[in-house]
Amino acid sequence: MTLLTANSPTAELQALDAAHHMHPFTHGQELGAKGARVITRAEGCWLTDSDGNRILDAMAGLWCVNVGYGRKELAEVAARQMQELPFYNTFFQTTHVPALNLAAKLAELAPGDLNHVFFAGSGSEANDTNLRMVRTYWAEKGQPQRDVIISRWNAYHGSSVGSGSLGGMKGIHMQGGLPIPGVHHIDQPNWWSEGGYSTPEAFGLERARALEAAILEIGPDRVAAFIAEPVQGAGGVIVPPETYWPEVQKIVDKYGILLIADEVICGFGRTGEWFGSQTMGIRPDIMTVAKGLSSGYIPIGGSIVSDEVASVIGNTEFNHGYTYSGHPVACAVALENLRIIEEEGLVEKVRDDTGVYLRERFESLTDHPMVGEAKIVGMMGSIALTPQKETRAPFKAEAGTVGFKVRERCFANNLIMRHVGDRMIISPPLVISREEIDTLIERAWQSLDEGYAAVKAEGLF
Ligand code: PMP
Repeated sequence: MTLLTANSPTAELQALDAAHHMHPFTHGQELGAKGARVITRAEGCWLTDSDGNRILDAMAGLWCVNVGYGRKELAEVAARQMQELPFYNTFFQTTHVPALNLAAKLAELAPGDLNHVFFAGSGSEANDTNLRMVRTYWAEKGQPQRDVIISRWNAYHGSSVGSGSLGGMKGIHMQGGLPIPGVHHIDQPNWWSEGGYSTPEAFGLERARALEAAILEIGPDRVAAFIAEPVQGAGGVIVPPETYWPEVQKIVDKYGILLIADEVICGFGRTGEWFGSQTMGIRPDIMTVAKGLSSGYIPIGGSIVSDEVASVIGNTEFNHGYTYSGHPVACAVALENLRIIEEEGLVEKVRDDTGVYLRERFESLTDHPMVGEAKIVGMMGSIALTPQKETRAPFKAEAGTVGFKVRERCFANNLIMRHVGDRMIISPPLVISREEIDTLIERAWQSLDEGYAAVKAEGLF
């Protein structure tokens, strides 16, 4: 067959894609009829599609391209490593230089005594590791009955059988027989959608105490761990009320339950600290990482584990691992990516400079008649769409209808913003400039205006 290129006509690219390529989280036939958007190249915060449009990527790919696109250093490191040692495994008492260096670097960056790393190929795989690791930990401590993991509805922890079970997405549970036994879900700290009857502070405490209620219901001696994202990402960038995390930390401490912070999105500067756990003031026993670890340039994930958990797991042979656990090319690229983040001061830039500017500009979107609240931490934010700000009312349409319309307007205006139900979310590259932030807000505002006009015309208020 003749391979197509980035310069082939869009219609040809779309037709071949529709014929053979199955897309994640996509209705195949609907996409086939419409034709996928074909992205051909990218630089900084900007994508180019096969029609030559330049699009501002306010999602950093899938929340991952923290250092921006087009970093030659990362390509060069990958090419060098491929020539030196393209693959070797880390099973059977073997190691290699990129894996040991990256593990040590992550131990240096991670807070507290999180000093040990188990590598995976993705966030889903790393959460599968965590599921087995916490159960193995308790079994090794002579408490094998401690096998229940508590998570939250509307959490996202991946889409493999294990990680999809840990997550609380009904759409994932509906297909393929999930969740597996031993995962218990509690309600999320989403004040806007579920908590308007009390103050955010009281609601945060209430939702944290749902964890204690679940522990008591299941039996404290049966609960292995609580897993949560410091700030829920795929669930709609739900920033918990300030009272939530301190209370959760108290509860896990009280019952001696392991805390797994899923940092797949929050890690590596996104919240204005190296890790979301630092922003939220929590002390996890395990952190899940992926995405920003390599800025998405190459697949890699991992679990960063405390001294205590690692030492107990080290008492036995942990029968777990992936061919690509600690892949040398992925580790070399991740190390170079961390060097860039550190040397360019991207975490500090988000915390003290562009993140502050983005917050100010993003919060101004609440002046729009259809925007009820704007929530933002560092470089991850969301706005809630509503026809009635005071009552936080939904639209007269199925949830997500208006969000989808606004997202389509964003696409048309060459801005990538995602919608989760009727929330619009952003997670731009950490290198976004003030000027690009202005463009982001202008295009978002214009898309909201156009969406608002359509909603009014269709009587969805
Ligand atoms: N955890 C969180 C918090 C995520 O956002 C994601 C991906 N969006 C995952 C886990 C799963 O990571 P992956 O897609 O790399 O398997």
